Amino acid sequence: MMAQYLAIKAAYPEGLLFYRMGDFYEMFFDDAHLAARALSIHCTTRGTHLGEPIPMAGVPVHAAEEHLARLIAQNIRVVIAEQTEDPAEAKKRGAKSVVAREVVRVVTPGTITEERLLDPSRAALLVTIAGGKGGYGIAAADVASGRFQLLATSEEGLSAELARLDPVELIAPDGLTLPHLPPRVTVTRRPPSMFRTSEASARLAEAFGVADLAAFGAFSEVEAAAGLALVLYLQETQIESAPPLDPPRKDAPGDVMVIDAATRASLELTRASRADGPTLLSAIDRTVSGIGAQRLAERIASPSTRVETIAARHDAVAVFIADPEARAGVRRALKGVSDAMRAVGRLAAGRGQPRDALAVCRALEAAATAAAALPAERPALVAAMGERLAEAPGELGARLAATLDERAASANATDGYVAEGVDAALDEARVLQNESRRFVAALQADYQQATGVRALKIKHNAVLGWFVEVPAGHADTLHGIDDFSHRQSLASAVRFTTDTLRDLESRILAASDDARSREQAIFAALVADIVAARPWIAAVADKMAELDVTAALAEIAVAARWTRPVVEEGLAFEVAAGRHPVVEAALADASRFVPNDCDLTPAEGDAKARATILTGPNMGGKSTYLRQNALIAILAQAGAYVPAARARIGVVDRLFSRIGASDDLAAGRSTFMVEMVELAAILNQAGPGALVILDEIGRGTATFDGLSIAWAALERLNEIGCRTLFATHYHELTALADRRPRIANATMRVKEWRGDIVFLHQVEPGAADRSYGVQVARLAGLPAAVVRRARDVLARLEESDRGAARAALMADLPLFAATVAPAEPAPATPHCASRLVEALDGLDPDALSPREALEALYELKAAR
Ligand code: ADP
Repeated sequence: MMAQYLAIKAAYPEGLLFYRMGDFYEMFFDDAHLAARALSIHCTTRGTHLGEPIPMAGVPVHAAEEHLARLIAQNIRVVIAEQTEDPAEAKKRGAKSVVAREVVRVVTPGTITEERLLDPSRAALLVTIAGGKGGYGIAAADVASGRFQLLATSEEGLSAELARLDPVELIAPDGLTLPHLPPRVTVTRRPPSMFRTSEASARLAEAFGVADLAAFGAFSEVEAAAGLALVLYLQETQIESAPPLDPPRKDAPGDVMVIDAATRASLELTRASRADGPTLLSAIDRTVSGIGAQRLAERIASPSTRVETIAARHDAVAVFIADPEARAGVRRALKGVSDAMRAVGRLAAGRGQPRDALAVCRALEAAATAAAALPAERPALVAAMGERLAEAPGELGARLAATLDERAASANATDGYVAEGVDAALDEARVLQNESRRFVAALQADYQQATGVRALKIKHNAVLGWFVEVPAGHADTLHGIDDFSHRQSLASAVRFTTDTLRDLESRILAASDDARSREQAIFAALVADIVAARPWIAAVADKMAELDVTAALAEIAVAARWTRPVVEEGLAFEVAAGRHPVVEAALADASRFVPNDCDLTPAEGDAKARATILTGPNMGGKSTYLRQNALIAILAQAGAYVPAARARIGVVDRLFSRIGASDDLAAGRSTFMVEMVELAAILNQAGPGALVILDEIGRGTATFDGLSIAWAALERLNEIGCRTLFATHYHELTALADRRPRIANATMRVKEWRGDIVFLHQVEPGAADRSYGVQVARLAGLPAAVVRRARDVLARLEESDRGAARAALMADLPLFAATVAPAEPAPATPHCASRLVEALDGLDPDALSPREALEALYELKAAR
């Protein structure tokens, strides 16, 4: 057996091997240790290998899904080797022969299909990349539901596309340098030969049973290569049966707003930076189904850049706002509706259960109910939904409803899931089963009477089947009766059987076998019908998802007082009384959020858009203001209403946002380096259609360096003419507004009150006169003495120009008095001063660690 185990392990070295042994999946050697750690299960030993005991850990088959879920969550792939013959067969070949086993499936994060392993509100995308510097092809599949799309991108665009798709698993050729990816993505490497472009198109066409891939659209060579690699990877991992994939669809990147990875992260669109923090998605999601939630996430991740598409979506939301009854009706109908396409995927892959068929049935019924609840007024998108949804439940839905019993809803239903009246032979077999059970009850009464043993029972277990049981004390009575033959003696009871019982047993068995195989045949026929109707079910499910999103956007628009934005061609950006949807939602009293305007629209007669420089103290609301304007653009182009009194936005084709860059220590880059790399990307990539939002660029270096970089960057953006919001602490920058007509200054209003600062969170024209850093520090709880001292220092700095101020400060510090200002009466003795100078000369500040520096300071102080 170990030889077989090691052979399988050698063929599948990647991942944990679940080796089926009877009712358990066993793991050996290193796998056993890994599983024990990852699953908190016990690791024992079994037998020896090369003289050493073999570590072993196991999980029961019935609990395998739960353990798979935990392994997948830890990014551990699992290779499942099943017994492919009956152990009895193996025995026939010889006492020592090993049961045949084969790997039937490799479970990876991007290929799971089980309901409980999948997040109902997120697609789990498997993505492959082909190509190289000349251009990349990307294939993305939601394996569970079968959606499959191909796209091409440039080297610069790769990172943004991957961030948009947000895959759970990425398959890339060995040696291909990938952009920085979040740790939750599992990266799997494969040899470059799997991603070759030659013949890829023909082979992909063949995989989908068409002569030419052009049947599905115009695909480039790298796109076909990525698509083929994905299909090959599925074949490699889903050995026994793969869930079906839709034919590839072209995902046109030109139609969506380009948002790079850093912008997505800083705006927290669909992923929060803290594990449980809110995101734009979580704050506005009012969908009532998993498929709706998935679609909303997609909309937010890929806002459209097509004015007509956006307007059509707004039209659809509008009718649901105008008709609250229709909105409520539709939401009631779709509430909790299952993901029909994932159910179909499982059924088609042979992993489905009766409950999956029931899920399809319920989804089709929900579609019909939703269709009936649609508003009377139907703009194009709603009309299209109505047409498709009204086809449901259709013949298929009706048949599923008539065939399936409620009992199909339970997990792992093995019988009883086909309704009564569907199949006469099945009903007959069931009657026989029931009658036989009644007969058992009657027989028990007979036997009690005949033997005079009141405690006699007729029971059933899996090993003995039906038997008569009496307490041990009565065993002799039955031993004396011919009919009863002894089966088994336990401590407290003795078991017998009789001819009548044996006969009855075989009739019950035959009836239940018959019933079971009839149910299986009926189920198989249903599955075949469902799989044949897959494209239609997909179309219905698609409209349900769309409808859920539309009604949900209407719901949030009403609840949070959002309005319909105007999205048009051109460079307008005019938001009146805009709000931050997430910050506002987090306030206990949403009316305390202070709305603010923003206008970056080109001036009359000018072809270029404007920039605003925003100054003001920390905590004044600068980042909130910057972010809210970016979020409003995203929402508007995602087809949602927006948190503003009015908004007019010329389509934003690219969005850049850099707010509070953080150290990327994993990649070995300091804050400043990260910031500069990102700034470079923006200045190189931003065109006139971009919206650029920058916060405190250049703060990671010396003041004058930072100021100069910020200054030059802002000038450059102004030349490009893209809409720009620029928050800064460098008040010197505000001078730019005087020189450049397209740059305006704005500041966050604050009030001072008895030395404290009150934030009004209001944007007003003009520049801040000061930073209020000391007041903010005081609010933050800096010790009073430090605040006092800081005020003092600040006052002195403000009194004089900076150079003189430094000298003045030096003079104040006793340590330096002797060296910096020897003319003044020194508090230290000359002898002491020379010792200090000596000690100072011996110090090399660049070579000191912070701790050594502190120690040196103590020594100097002591030397005085
Ligand atoms: P800054 O970037 O200037 O340091 P933030 O934008 O981080 O300031 O805002 C600080 C806090 O002030 C936010 O967490 C929020 O609670 C509050 N705040 C910001 N803007 C507003 C506003 N318009 N209305 C009400 N509260 C706001």
